[in-house]
Amino acid sequence: MIPLRAKLTLVYSILFLASVAAVEVATYWGVSAALDTLLENELIARRAVVEEYVQNHVRRLEWPALAAALANHRGFQPDWIGIESSEGHVLFAGAALRNARANPAITPSRVLREFRRIDGQDYVFFTGMDANIPAAILERIRWIMLFSAPLLLLSASAIGYWIAGRALKPVQQIANAAASIDSRNLATRLTVPASRDELQRLAETINHMLDRIETGFRQISQFTANASHELRTPVAIIRSTAEVALLHPGPADSPERNALRRILRQSERNSQLLEDMLHLARLDAAAAPNHQPVDLARSLRAAASSVLPLAQKQNITVNIVTPPNPVIVLADDAHLRRLWTILLDNAFKYTPAGGSVRIAVDMDHEVSIQDTGCGIAPEDLPHVFDRFYRADKSRGAGPAGFGLGLALARQITRSHKATIEITSRLSQGADVRIRFPKNNGIPHETAVSANSQVNHIALK
Ligand code: ATP
Ligand code: MG
Repeated sequence: MIPLRAKLTLVYSILFLASVAAVEVATYWGVSAALDTLLENELIARRAVVEEYVQNHVRRLEWPALAAALANHRGFQPDWIGIESSEGHVLFAGAALRNARANPAITPSRVLREFRRIDGQDYVFFTGMDANIPAAILERIRWIMLFSAPLLLLSASAIGYWIAGRALKPVQQIANAAASIDSRNLATRLTVPASRDELQRLAETINHMLDRIETGFRQISQFTANASHELRTPVAIIRSTAEVALLHPGPADSPERNALRRILRQSERNSQLLEDMLHLARLDAAAAPNHQPVDLARSLRAAASSVLPLAQKQNITVNIVTPPNPVIVLADDAHLRRLWTILLDNAFKYTPAGGSVRIAVDMDHEVSIQDTGCGIAPEDLPHVFDRFYRADKSRGAGPAGFGLGLALARQITRSHKATIEITSRLSQGADVRIRFPKNNGIPHETAVSANSQVNHIALK
């Protein structure tokens, strides 16, 4: 991408160079024409004097004698005079003129050739002069122009670049501000410059557009929250009805009981989906979060204990590594537990029997959950946080989920200003890391303990 500032400067510099070149060529041409006219007028005047002399003497003197008289005349410069008959016979030729006409390239000179009729006879008059000074003047002008053009161009480009930068700075500011607005801070608006120009209009237009986007976004979140909320009760009724129906005595393997079990399974899945959607919609529309000091290790252990049966069922070894001192962050504990459950559920779900999962908290407010499972392909990795994205749908690994777990996990970490990162390679397990901001409101001494002794708990 070529920045607009550079483009503007380039166009401006090209136009400037073209104008400077045009002005310089015109100036050079004008000076050179003026000098030539000066020389020509001088030569015409000299020729007039010589012509008058010839006119006065041509009747009385033969040409050789007249030529000798001309050569010795001190009133004009005979060296630079030449006269030929109309047939081309040289009647008189001064030495300098002869030289100049013989070597026009070596001697800078100006020679004027004129036809004159004297006493019924046609002559060609040559009048010349040394043109060293005008040539030197023109040479100097050429050098001045040659050196001044790049200097002018350079300084004009620098000034142009600076002006373009100044003019575009507000655009850059608007672009930066607009780029920092996303679904988490949709209520933010651009500062409108009171410049009464296109920039003010641009900022106002973007703000109006943000108003509309925010309204739309809120409506969608509200709709999802309402719909999930409204659907929770009927699904719960279906579920409990199936459960109650299954309590009735009867043959264990009858088609009716199998159908009821399927209804129960599907309604359980549906209520999980509705919970996730409701949770996501609430996080999307969340106002100011209500965060309390939470010990990361404690919160992780509590969540782990609720999903451990899943690991035990699969014969997965679980290691929990935590420092002996609390690692305190400001957080919503219920949300954090949900986050750990989502990540542990994935780790257990995508790790085959006999594998292992390592859960670690460190003093830098970092939590890592590493598994030895099937891993994630590079092409799936950028999408796993998208809503309803399931990488394994094509390879059929693990029990079917909805693809909402990591989307929720990302929203939860965002609402805590934390980051979540997954490093994974296909068949080489996954490493999920959550980093909480270094000092998220907790005094440093409480948040970080110097004692880094670790605690290993192995569960099987
Ligand atoms: P849900 O969590 O909604 O029940 P899900 O587990 O399929 O469904 P996510 O938790 O969002 O959805 O994960 C998205 C996808 O990322 C998963 O389908 C899976 O392919 C992949 N994935 C996530 N965690 C792991 C992991 N630890 N190992 C391998 N693949 C993973
Ligand atoms: Mg999941």
